[in-house]
Formats: sequence, structure tokens, C-alpha cells
Amino acid sequence: MPELPEVEALAGYLRQRAVGRRVDRLEIAAISALKTYDPAPTAATGRTVTDARRHGKFLDVVLDGDLHVVIHLARAGWLHYREAFASTTPLRPGKGPVALRVRLDDGSGFDLTEAGTQKSLAVYLVTDPATVPGVARLGPDALAADLATFTERLRSRRGQVKGVLTDQTVLAGVGNAYSDEILHAAKLSPFALTNRLTDDQLATLHAATRRVLGDAVTRSVGQRAAELKGEKRSGLKVHARTGLPCPVCGDTVREVSFADSSLQYCPTCQTGGKPLADRRLSRLVR
Ligand SMILES: [Zn+2]
Repeated sequence: MPELPEVEALAGYLRQRAVGRRVDRLEIAAISALKTYDPAPTAATGRTVTDARRHGKFLDVVLDGDLHVVIHLARAGWLHYREAFASTTPLRPGKGPVALRVRLDDGSGFDLTEAGTQKSLAVYLVTDPATVPGVARLGPDALAADLATFTERLRSRRGQVKGVLTDQTVLAGVGNAYSDEILHAAKLSPFALTNRLTDDQLATLHAATRRVLGDAVTRSVGQRAAELKGEKRSGLKVHARTGLPCPVCGDTVREVSFADSSLQYCPTCQTGGKPLADRRLSRLVR
């Protein structure tokens, strides 16, 4: 799932490439992806792209006259910038992986695609991004929050730090992958309880959040955004590295599985060398 760094890189790429261009046509192939009906997609025609912004993990393509194409890429969605399209024929509903296409007046544009069968990519055409429910609920941006805000937000929610850090209403932008990396960098167990974290631990976690996200933004922007893949991140130390050595201490990266996700961590760096209980494995053993 694209998180703050990838969405930031996409917004940066669109600012460079699409701002100043006029929209020729906004085409919807996956009807279920468009969550709003007024204004209609035809309202985008003829408007100029004036900005591209990020709200947490949401991408906001701003058109003149206060029209916003707000995009949530969900788990398997991505934005592909095309220098040219092979055909001028409008997309046909229900065909292929492209959910939405925006054609610009220089012949370039972008496709939103979604892989897999679980379709959850969401597009909102709105005059005010704050009217998108997921955007309205967002907490302060995880990369922008200062230590006082960060501490206040983390302590506002009792629970396991992994869950609190990925709760978009607490802080916006961090998902499953970067929370694994942040907790590893902060040497904290993903199951540590937020109400028991000391001031020092929260300061370390805040610094780790800024560093991990900041480095990832730099790496993501450095790649050509058109080639950026949410799944193919570089520089990760524990996330999606189960069974591989921790680059910090050499211990084996372990995993805890849940119904539809998993987390990775290093026992030596994060849990005093003790493996965390994996409910799925415990069930098998029992
Ligand atoms: Zn380690």
C-alpha cells in the first residue's frame, strides 16, 4: 500500500509534470471507484491543473475553479504517468486494470490502476477536500508533527504502538510498512503500550518517524515517479524481510501474522531478544 513517502513522490512528480496543463477528459472505467456523483466527471474538462498535494495517504490533484480529484490508492492501486496514450478511444467500463484516466492537453496524462480482485481504490471529485470523509478524519501529518504534537497524539490513544501509529486519525500517513521500519529504528516492540511509553521513548519514536519517513521521501523522489512501485521499496530494514538478517544486528527478522496482514520486527533490536507470540502459529501448535 502506498504510504506517505510514495504519495509525496507522486504529488511532487505531478507538480513538475502536470501543473499548467489543461484536462481534456477524465474517464472512469471502474464505476465503483468514483465515490461522488456531483460534480460529474465532465466538470474536469477544460480546467487547468494548478497543484498536486498530499493529505496523509490521499493524493489531491487540484484543478482551477476549486475542483479537486482526491485519490486514495488503497492496497493495490497506483498512478502511472503516460507521456502519450496509445489510443484516443475512451476507456470502456469494466475492461482491464485501469480504473480512471486523465488526459491532458499535451497528449500526456495519467492512469490510476488497481491490481487484484479486491477493489478498494477510491476517487472523489469535490470542491473541498475536507468533505472527503477519510480526509476529514486525518490527524496531524506524521512527517510535519513536532515533538509536542506527536507526544500528545500518541498518548491520546491507548493501545499497542503499532496500531496507534498506523491509525490515520491519530497521525496521518504511516501504514503497515513504515510503522515496522519506524519501530525498528526506535528499538520499540510493536506491542508496546502507548500509555506506558516514557518521554524519552516518545522522543526517540518521534525522531525515528521523521528520519524514516524523510529518508523514504528522498529515495522515492529520487526514483522516477513513473517507475515507483508501492511494492518495490528500497532501503527497508525489517518490513517484508522475514527470515533475512537484520542489517543492524544480524539477528533474524521475524513476523507476526494477522488475518489479513503481518508485521515484521527484529527480536534483538526491539523485544529484548524474545520472539513475540504469533497467534496464527500458536493456533497451529495447539
Ligand atoms: Zn536487529
